[in-house]
Amino acid sequence: MKLVLLGTGGYFPTTERHTACLMLPEVGVLLDAGSGMCRLAEHLATDRLDVFLTHAHLDHVAGLTCLVNLVPPAVLSKTNVHGDAAKLAAVREHLFAEPIFPVSPPFRFEPLDGPCRLPGGGTLTHFPLPHPGGSLGFRLDWPGHSLAYVTDTTAAANAEYVDHIRGVDLLVHEAYFADDRRDLPSLTGHSALIEVAKVAAAAQVGRLVLVHIDPQTCDQSEFDMDAARGIFVNTEIGEDRMELSF
Ligand SMILES: [Zn+2]
Ligand SMILES: [Zn+2]
Repeated sequence: MKLVLLGTGGYFPTTERHTACLMLPEVGVLLDAGSGMCRLAEHLATDRLDVFLTHAHLDHVAGLTCLVNLVPPAVLSKTNVHGDAAKLAAVREHLFAEPIFPVSPPFRFEPLDGPCRLPGGGTLTHFPLPHPGGSLGFRLDWPGHSLAYVTDTTAAANAEYVDHIRGVDLLVHEAYFADDRRDLPSLTGHSALIEVAKVAAAAQVGRLVLVHIDPQTCDQSEFDMDAARGIFVNTEIGEDRMELSF
């Protein structure tokens, strides 16, 4: 199974990183709809799409407006946007309010309530993550392949979500901060690099790829990757357009 990182930044786009958007082209699944969504058409390979939103902060939903012009109408008519019911309602009411975006959403909003079937015999499950306003983590399982996506939360090896991601082949996890100076991770609902490596080790995942990087330090010069790999050896920083197999 192939995962394409369309956007690996947090908060706002830069020349190096668009904001949160991951794509599994073979099954038409997108995880988050940040500004990286603008690259969707390069990878579109299915006649329908399923977009799963972790939450409704702008760096995760603004790209929904790109779908209107980047995806053929026949595909849009079979496209569903999934997420927490209240967050979907906020997106529909505010992001697609006529003064902000003048085209009505040409896809369906589907509140998540329980596991979701995916093409190819897969299943997506979701679980809550602490973050201002709340976020959702996702785990996607197919026979022989598994992926977890955890963003916009504060990593801790004893966090409740660790059980939900245990043993996945690939963990894509946010690492907004290089370290936990001034308690910024817990104050903002984001993660520090070393704590993320500890989560990967505790959950015994196969591989860790870091995303949702702080746009103000996105040259990663502050990331101590040697220290992170000392805790979990199979750690790397995600880059926009990176393609990962799992
Ligand atoms: Zn975010
Ligand atoms: Zn957020």
